[in-house]
Amino acid sequence: MNVELVNTGTELLLGDTINTNAAWIGQRLAALGVQVSRQTIVPDGVVIRVAIAEAAQRADVVLVSGGLGPTNDDLTRESTAELLSLDMELNAGVMQHLSEYFAKRGKPVSEATQRQAMVPRGAEVLHNHFGTAPGLYFPPELSAALGWNAHIFLLPGPPRELKPMVESEVETRLRNWLPDGASRRVLYLKVTGVGESDIVEAVEKRLEAIAGLDLGYCIRNGDVDVRLAGPQAAVDEAADVVRAALGDCIVSEDRRIIEEVIVQLLQERGEWLATAESCTGGTIANRITDVSGASRVFGHGWVTYANEAKHQHLGVPTELIETHGAVSEEVARAMAEGALRNSGADHALAVTGVAGPTGGTPEKPVGTVWIALATKGAETWAQKKFSPGSRDRFKLLTSQAALDMLRRRMLGIALR
Ligand code: ATP
Ligand code: MG
Repeated sequence: MNVELVNTGTELLLGDTINTNAAWIGQRLAALGVQVSRQTIVPDGVVIRVAIAEAAQRADVVLVSGGLGPTNDDLTRESTAELLSLDMELNAGVMQHLSEYFAKRGKPVSEATQRQAMVPRGAEVLHNHFGTAPGLYFPPELSAALGWNAHIFLLPGPPRELKPMVESEVETRLRNWLPDGASRRVLYLKVTGVGESDIVEAVEKRLEAIAGLDLGYCIRNGDVDVRLAGPQAAVDEAADVVRAALGDCIVSEDRRIIEEVIVQLLQERGEWLATAESCTGGTIANRITDVSGASRVFGHGWVTYANEAKHQHLGVPTELIETHGAVSEEVARAMAEGALRNSGADHALAVTGVAGPTGGTPEKPVGTVWIALATKGAETWAQKKFSPGSRDRFKLLTSQAALDMLRRRMLGIALR
């Protein structure tokens, strides 16, 4: 099946907006076993009509994004109607959706907005649950007179509106048109604490031998997503291979990120977490509190950047800092144990390190960090890590390692 994308929007060509819709659609369709054959980006305006015409001549399916909104540079709907010589009709269903959408927000439906309820005759309306502009689907009959045989979809530009529409409206249709579409599966195994090349080394040979498997790796925020797609049996077999090789490094099999997994684990166990951070400046606390439901598991987080703060708020003995230095196993342990004591939580994570670019020494180069985890009724764990690079990256990788330490403790997995 030949699928082409037409992404519209002058901002995409100016570089003001990155064409994430194309990337996202490419990934979704790849999971269905379909590779997008061509992408075209055009500015707002009448050239949209030309781009759709060119794509429809070549492709079985054309996915167009953007330009469905109420402003006068949003011309995709009208351009397509003109191209296919279709009259526009007011659609009562869309009109009602618009009225309800604006009534909820206490606003009248403007004339410009009403334009979005005009639907080319014969096109199917794709409901927009997250915005006003509906999507539209033109079956091949509508372009048959021009000698084409293309399914044409018009989709809203904003990603939060486009994504659910692609999932619910486009993919279900594509599956029906594909010979093996209904049986295809995709599984993402999120692996943390192991580099991409080590993962490849551990599993690739065995995965390559599985017939029909489509394999991909994507590095995302310090983790690696191993994407397994293909017929159900191939995906199941491949998942077993990855689990056997990397089992305890798999954070999730449903795309959840580690902080989501941790908040859920804490909730299930009725346990609380506290944090004591130096070099990460609150990154761990920030990641935990990004997760809905964090208030039931997280009550205290300290950012103790100065030595004095480590002493004053966490009870780290001044002599300990003087003897071993702030970046040391002893201080990391004392920070974690102090946070546990002062918060009454069940677990306390602490980090202390040299983020750089300055402040490194031969014994403790930039990127050195000690991470400690104190848990009620258990021995405190401490681990040294080394993550040189930018401060951002250091914070990300350090917080990742700290969260993984907690995940391992809660699941009874040894540190690695
Ligand atoms: P609206 O009703 O918001 O006007 P629309 O369907 O007319 O939606 P556009 O006006 O083309 O869509 O784009 C709206 C916004 O959506 C853009 O400002 C941009 O932030 C985002 N957007 C559009 N196209 C893309 C794309 N290809 N990738 C990522 N974001 C996009
Ligand atoms: Mg617009």
